[in-house]
Formats: sequence, C-alpha cells, structure tokens
Amino acid sequence: MYGVIPSGLRRRFHGQYLKSDDFCQMLVDIYALVKPQLTIIDGITAMEGEGPARENKDLGLVLASRDTVALDAVCGEIIGLKPADVLTTRYAGERGLGIGDLSRIDIVGEKFEDLAVNDFKLPVTFTRAAMNRAPHGPVKYILEQISPRPRVKKKNCTACGKCVKACPTGAATIVGENAAIDAKRCIRCMCCHEVCRFNAIYLGRPFFGKVTYDMLRAARRM
Ligand code: SF4
Ligand code: SF4
Repeated sequence: MYGVIPSGLRRRFHGQYLKSDDFCQMLVDIYALVKPQLTIIDGITAMEGEGPARENKDLGLVLASRDTVALDAVCGEIIGLKPADVLTTRYAGERGLGIGDLSRIDIVGEKFEDLAVNDFKLPVTFTRAAMNRAPHGPVKYILEQISPRPRVKKKNCTACGKCVKACPTGAATIVGENAAIDAKRCIRCMCCHEVCRFNAIYLGRPFFGKVTYDMLRAARRM
C-alpha cells in the first residue's frame, strides 16, 4: 500500500513514523482510505531473506482475495509467520478492515496443509517483531544489539547516490568515493539497502549481536 502515495510523502513518513507500531498504523490508515477491490499475490517466485536482488524461492503459488488482510494472514502462515507478528495484519484486523484470524478465513483451491513452506528464510529485520513485544531493560538491549543495521561494502559502491536520495533522515551520504552511513541518524528503515543495485549495502550486526543471534538461531533449530 505504501506504493500508492507519492514518493516525497514516502520519504517523509519514513522519517516521521520511526516506531514500527506507528509506521504500520500509518500503512493501515492508507489501506483504509484506498481499499483494493481485489488483491492478487504472485508467489510463483517469492522473494525471501533479504529480498529482490538477493534471494528468491520458487513456490508456484498465486493467491487472490477481496480481503487483503485475510490474504496477508494466509500468506504469512504459509511461510511461518503468525498474523499477530505481522503488525499491519494485526492492526487491520483489530480495526475491522479485514479478517486476520485464520480460523475465520475460507481457503479454496489448494489444501492449506500442503502449502506450508518450512524452510522459508525470513528477513533479518524480522527480529523487530520480537523487539516490539519486548519489555524495556536488558531484553530490549539484547534485541537492539541483534537487530541488523546497514553497512557499506566499499568495493561494490559506485557512489551513484541512490541510497542518499532514498534515505529519509540524511544518514546516508557520499564521503569521498563511497557511500557512508551515520549510525546516529540511521533509523534502520533499510531503504538504502532496497534501492542499491550494486549489492553495496549489506545488513550486519555488531559482534555481540551476531554471536547472540547465532546462538539463538542454533537453539531454535534444536
Ligand atoms: S546506492 Fe549503492 S552503489 Fe550507490 S552510492 Fe549507495 S551504496 Fe553506493
Ligand atoms: S541509512 Fe539506510 S537504513 Fe539508515 S535511515 Fe538512511 S535509508 Fe534508512
């Protein structure tokens, strides 16, 4: 839905709605105003992990619904996300803009149980869902550390400036022959990562965060 508003507003809202809760409520506001009549999701080849230029997965699925919220809830469940963990689905459901509760959704066509993709790679930014639920204090601090941040791979950077244009806070700049990111100004919206065509922005964690994150992932697989 973010694509239906002008690009100038998109940049402004990225800087204005810094918390995931606020940002997702804003997306739901847009949805409430411009509610689609029919939504079709092309999941023949789905992007997974870090997205378009980087990782894709063949799912062979096309899904459609007049209720976009229900469609998101179903798609989320297929790749292992609970509707309550996807804030836009949760808020839109709570606001009565669609059905986010899987038990109330009629699924026709394929058998739902056959569609689950157990090895779907979620983006590293997904740790934010856990951050939203975490209380303040040490848990919040640890989650903050394992949350990824954009870094510049200098040897790939052509200094094209696309990331600078896309950055809503002025954190991305060109310094000398490369892009640079001011960590203090960065709100981790990942727009720079999304627009870079040269794979020059990657998502990394500080050392402590990386070690903790790897331990948590290993424990989850056990
Ligand atoms: S968009 Fe990518 S290649 Fe262009 S300046 Fe930014 S980091 Fe460098
Ligand atoms: S540097 Fe990248 S992630 Fe940080 S605020 Fe700018 S566009 Fe967003």
